[in-house]
Amino acid sequence: MTIRNTVIIGSGPAGWTAALYTARATLKPLVFEGSAPNLPGGQLMITSEVENYPGFPKGVQGPELMTLFKDQAVRFGAETRTENIVSLNLSKQPFELISENGDKIHTQTVILAMGANAKLLGIPLEKELMARGAGVSACATCDGAFYKNMDVAVVGGGDTAFEEAQFLTRFARSVTLIHRRTDFRASKIMISRAQSNPKIRFELNEEVQEILTENNQLSHVRLKNKTLKVQGLFVAIGHQPNSSLLEGQLQLHPTGYIKTLGQSAKTEIEGVFACGDLQDAVYRQAVTAAGSGCQAAIDCERYLESKGH
Ligand code: NDP
Repeated sequence: MTIRNTVIIGSGPAGWTAALYTARATLKPLVFEGSAPNLPGGQLMITSEVENYPGFPKGVQGPELMTLFKDQAVRFGAETRTENIVSLNLSKQPFELISENGDKIHTQTVILAMGANAKLLGIPLEKELMARGAGVSACATCDGAFYKNMDVAVVGGGDTAFEEAQFLTRFARSVTLIHRRTDFRASKIMISRAQSNPKIRFELNEEVQEILTENNQLSHVRLKNKTLKVQGLFVAIGHQPNSSLLEGQLQLHPTGYIKTLGQSAKTEIEGVFACGDLQDAVYRQAVTAAGSGCQAAIDCERYLESKGH
């Protein structure tokens, strides 16, 4: 039986950075980059311009950035399979992983980097406009600056929606927060800050039912009771970490995020590490995911060294 040093599951900024570091540490990582319905490359594959990744002063397209991440890891010997892992057994060493083609892979360590996905409304044109950067986004930090002096809307009633609405007032002329109820989940302080911000308006007991376009760009959103003219729609209704594979194997937060120990990428199981949006409900940026992929790789390398590798 061949036992690998490390297998990385996931191929966003966290996964490829973990692959780069473990490859340069001569650990010959095997990366399962996923396949449909998962998207190799992760969430950046459905964004257009990325302006906040350091080192790209003129910005870079999300898919291009992910190709560069992959190329860099492969250059140092990371092996890639465009397949999903469908089950894994972390209860004993070596860990056993089963790929969608039915292959069994044995490994001393696993780096989990399956990411998270923004929850979407599930209405027509939403994904398409998001992919083209044509008026729909799930990240105000990433895309807010494209909406200078425009009218935008945010959907949701939790802390993320309020934080995004507040942030967007730096750029936008007006921000309409659309929520399906009159009570909010967001913290009181965030709510009162938004209520006293003259740029923020509220549409409560409302739902976005349809996205309307002009010249292939978002132009209006149709709600239950009215239609709003907006150039940007920010969907902020929560994120779903891709952790279903790990249920019953590892401790998860009630929200599905993986628990890591202290500031490390270690999980409660020795030899299993987690990084990126799979374990980060707070920052969720490409650069923070890449940073945590690096941490996972270093923790992994030190663990193997402690075992006499
Ligand atoms: P939440 O789950 O807290 O809130 C999601 C919101 O979206 C809810 O108001 C929900 O409505 C609404 N929603 C969900 N699905 C739909 C849908 N299909 N259509 C319309 N509306 C929908 O997610 P958040 O991302 O806001 O927050 C996640 C966690 O992160 C929370 O614990 C939060 O406190 C934390 N956080 C903290 C921050 C801070 O402290 N600065 C900043 C951001 C997040 P309903 O209420 O009706 O269910």
